[in-house]
Amino acid sequence: MRADQTDKTFVLKGIGVSPGVAIGRVYRFDPLDSKIAFYKLKDDSLIPKEVLRFKKALTESEQQLLEIQKNLKKAKVTEPLYVIDVHILILKDKIFTNRTIKYIRRLGINAEWALRMTLDHYKQIFEGVEDAYISSRVSDVQYVVQRVLRNLSGEKQENVWETGQDGVIIVSHDLSPADTAQMKLDKILGFATDSGGRTSHTAIVARSMELPAVVGLDNITRSVRTGDEIIVDGTSGLVVINPYPDMLKRYEEKKRHYDAARDEYLKYAKLPAMTLDNYHVQIGCNIEFIEEIPSAIVHGAENIGLYRTEFLYIYRDELPTEEDHFNNYRQVVTEKNLSWSTIRTFDLGGDKFPNYQKQSKELNPQMGLRAIRFCLKEVEIFKTQLRAIWRASAFGKTKILFPMISSVDEIREAKKLLEETRQELLSRGVKIASEMEIGAMIEVPAAVIIADKLAQEVDFFSIGTNDLIQYSLAIDRANERLTYLYEPLHPAVLRLIKRVVDMAHEAKIRTAMCGEMAGDPLCALILLGMELDELSMNHLAIPRIKKIIRESTIKESKILLEKALSFNTASEVRAYVVDYMMGRFPDEFQNEED
Ligand code: PEP
Ligand code: MG
Repeated sequence: MRADQTDKTFVLKGIGVSPGVAIGRVYRFDPLDSKIAFYKLKDDSLIPKEVLRFKKALTESEQQLLEIQKNLKKAKVTEPLYVIDVHILILKDKIFTNRTIKYIRRLGINAEWALRMTLDHYKQIFEGVEDAYISSRVSDVQYVVQRVLRNLSGEKQENVWETGQDGVIIVSHDLSPADTAQMKLDKILGFATDSGGRTSHTAIVARSMELPAVVGLDNITRSVRTGDEIIVDGTSGLVVINPYPDMLKRYEEKKRHYDAARDEYLKYAKLPAMTLDNYHVQIGCNIEFIEEIPSAIVHGAENIGLYRTEFLYIYRDELPTEEDHFNNYRQVVTEKNLSWSTIRTFDLGGDKFPNYQKQSKELNPQMGLRAIRFCLKEVEIFKTQLRAIWRASAFGKTKILFPMISSVDEIREAKKLLEETRQELLSRGVKIASEMEIGAMIEVPAAVIIADKLAQEVDFFSIGTNDLIQYSLAIDRANERLTYLYEPLHPAVLRLIKRVVDMAHEAKIRTAMCGEMAGDPLCALILLGMELDELSMNHLAIPRIKKIIRESTIKESKILLEKALSFNTASEVRAYVVDYMMGRFPDEFQNEED
């Protein structure tokens, strides 16, 4: 949706999923790009050589096409001959080649990058053509570009984020965990994507890397080209393309303001989350990569409440070995500043797939063979991870957490396999902890209903609201068209959470929450009123949540919760909670409902 437009400047509205403001140049990412070299030439004297390299690749491409044509003729295959003619014509087209050469000369970039910009240009022209046949002919240009790129490759394999001079803002249709995992994030300033929702893993990764991000922009990839100036405002969910000077100044100011406020919050990082009437909540951090641990500590994490270990699988082409697992877990659990580390066994499937299992064949992967279901089927893969977790437990306090539990049978089966691996290691004389707390993620409505039964099987619960909301409200968490329905304050969701905490406390076990709701400042008092024992969130959220908790009382939180639970509709609850929080913390929430 184009929210506002001047001559060259236009604004798009999406969903702000990672706060902050990023200002920079667009880099239109295509998953294919990860295999191609993009870099700025070291100095202008290299330009003539780069132009020659491009021309050589054109000649090679033409020769290859002529060769293919010759072979086809020999084999008396006539059908694709004219298509190859078209491709040769594109290769020789002066506008096509001169535009690329102009980019190399003017921007001092390598031929691959320039060619990619030319392709973007053609894509935009073709997409504007109403005739479906003609607009689909952009695939011919694409084909030619691929061939030339292939001929250019093999000289230097670097990505823009590895050698680029300045940072870029990645604009893409979507970013899979595998895409983001292979990016060198210090060259990236922010993200803007066509699809995705608040709890899609792209959003989670952006937040964990402290990069402003806006998702669900519908078709930003059609509206921008590599090199365009762009502002990503992850707080308000707005993206500005080619801002006019005054607008740019305003956003630079906003960025300064945001960065200063973030530093101000950091003052609360090391303080305990203790209410004015002495109710203490343990604050954990959610991580995907061990590289995030220093950030977690700086922002005030007291433990790791959720280590999403599936990213170990997504990173690579082959399954991680027991040693790969162990080396990662040991680094987490030995961190002296953390009271414990909760290692969640891998949750593959849903919207997270390893490289070697890119596309799920399931019609509905979110409800498919994911998480614990997958583990209980692929027992050997699962046991490899379980052994590594046990081995790590010898080095620091470790808790294990099983995702997507929906029955007592599942948790018993998981525990049985855990015990088998324990016995196996003990019989081999391997050092492991004498005990390890076992937790179940409560993220399926069935688990809430049988929470009293599950509580007898485990040492703690951790509520995964991202999935619990998805499954209870029947909303695909990654579907940007449904975000308006994704409501943590829905009365059904509040009742589900309350039941879990109550059942856990009745059984004298602790309950944590590790879904995104735990880090949502608007929900802080509601969750406090529920008497959750631990909130685990992305590190950026920690100082602000601590500040709010420290300025509240458990008494007022319970009254607020009771009132919230008395409403019939989600919008009534939201309106009441927003009003309360804005009145109570005017500095915190002044821009909340913009
Ligand atoms: C959740 O579902 O809330 C959760 C924390 O797990 P994930 O986001 O990894 O599915
Ligand atoms: Mg989940």
